[in-house]
Amino acid sequence: MKNQELTKIFDYIADILEIKGDNLFRIRAYRRAARNIENLGEEIEKIIKDGAVDDIPGIGEDLAEKIKEYVSTGKMWFYEKLKKSIPKLALDLMAVPGVGPKTAKILCDRLKAKSIKELEKYLSQGRLKNIPGLREKKIANILKGIKFIRKSEHKIPLGEAFRISEEIISRLKKLGEIEKITAAGSLRRMKETIRDIDILIASLKPQKVIENFTALPEIKQVASRGKTKSTVITKDDVQIDMRVVRPQSFGSALCYFTGSKNHNIRLRKMAVAKGLKMNEYGIFEIRTNKKIAGKNEESVYSALGLAYIPPEMREDKGEIELARGHNIPRLLELEDIKGDLHVHSDSSDGMLKFEDIALICREIGYEYVVITDHSKSLRIAGGLSEKELFTNIKKVRKINKKTGIRLLIGSEVDILDNGRLDYGNNVLKELDFAIAAIHSGFRESKDKLTYRFLKAIESKFVNMIAHPTGRLMGVRDAYEIDLDKILKTARDANVAVEINAFPARLDLDDNASHRAKELGVTIGISTDTHTRKNFGNMFFGVGVARRAWLEKKDVLNTLSLADFLKKIRK
Ligand SMILES: [Zn+2]
Ligand SMILES: [Zn+2]
Repeated sequence: MKNQELTKIFDYIADILEIKGDNLFRIRAYRRAARNIENLGEEIEKIIKDGAVDDIPGIGEDLAEKIKEYVSTGKMWFYEKLKKSIPKLALDLMAVPGVGPKTAKILCDRLKAKSIKELEKYLSQGRLKNIPGLREKKIANILKGIKFIRKSEHKIPLGEAFRISEEIISRLKKLGEIEKITAAGSLRRMKETIRDIDILIASLKPQKVIENFTALPEIKQVASRGKTKSTVITKDDVQIDMRVVRPQSFGSALCYFTGSKNHNIRLRKMAVAKGLKMNEYGIFEIRTNKKIAGKNEESVYSALGLAYIPPEMREDKGEIELARGHNIPRLLELEDIKGDLHVHSDSSDGMLKFEDIALICREIGYEYVVITDHSKSLRIAGGLSEKELFTNIKKVRKINKKTGIRLLIGSEVDILDNGRLDYGNNVLKELDFAIAAIHSGFRESKDKLTYRFLKAIESKFVNMIAHPTGRLMGVRDAYEIDLDKILKTARDANVAVEINAFPARLDLDDNASHRAKELGVTIGISTDTHTRKNFGNMFFGVGVARRAWLEKKDVLNTLSLADFLKKIRK
């Protein structure tokens, strides 16, 4: 928990220093510190105890002191002081896409608005005319950014919600009196963003469980507290609704609280048609009021004459019809994944050495992993020159012999403005697996962007298109492309299309992935790993795949090494 808090604080400090026009190196140092703490594999408290804070990359003596101060006192004096030196609105504004520190400062100085809402009003009233540095187009962009923020407000990315819920669940388990505990709601359905977290518990001592829950250190405020349920707000400002039910009703309650709403409405209608009544306590015969199901979810579905429906499918998009005919597909499982196809090493913008990558992936149980550092044009992310890439190819071939897992060498090749790839064929042909991606020119026309993808797919050396729509949650929406055309062309050229499992990307998303399956496109699921922790994101990619009804046969990296190599050979 402290790791996350420190990450936020260091990012805020960098933001404030930027607004104040401070020294660029100093700002960068805080940003780097934030990233490094964010990616620590260990609790900062433990690192302090071990006296190893100075060993964290990018943490010098000064930052180490600040970290220790915060962990021991819960405050960082420097940050508290700094915060008071600028209006709060300036800080809020930095989160708005299209607003940099300079603009934030101008807006605050000129408008004297106290909140983003007020600012929005002033902007739409045209109160900002004739201010140097703020042209009409800029103002329109700011308004767009504010709307974007508003849209994503109170929505937590799946990865974040999952982390919080896992933490709460593991704490509660330790405190006892719990027979079963699980997240329900849209989190259990693996939706890409979540409004609030639902936790369901089976226990015979609800009072005790509620007592434990409301006293957890992660909780900032108890909004309501009843005999069997409670709502709280965590320190990350996330709402958690928790309910305790008797074990014999756990299945029906889980079904009820998992949703979706539309799915449950259909189920209840089916129950009524059968002379049954269905609620969170169970399924009952209306005539006799006798309970006939509810202990587990399987019994609930079976009482309605349905096969069990995995939570990720419960959206009333045809799954009930499938369940009626007992035709629910066996959805992809995390264990089906045999390798990762998109991993960055420390030769571009990742943090891991080739050997580390091999070791971690072997530990996960993979048969292969592809190293895909950025290509030369993406200088900002440490893109490799041809020479550097050739050196890496040799290095990977050498390491391969001693790691017990097949390390493959690839590249995340930029698709340039004209649709050409960032390396020539003489380079690409040496790679085991090339993925092509767009990292620039997002605002081009739909036709132009589509053309760039089609051109890249044409290259006989491209194996996969990475993060095809480019959306980055909380930062930018997907760019406009003719996705159907791209998918069909990829299918015909034996090019896979990625579900990028990075929680802010999840790109393709569930709907697009489902469309890809319909069209017969092969999907690759990969983590876009930059740090050790990122490998765990495969779980979220598989979640998207399950929401898209994908099966093992639809996914490229479920193939064994031998079959994988055969499939990608062109
Ligand atoms: Zn990328
Ligand atoms: Zn990448």
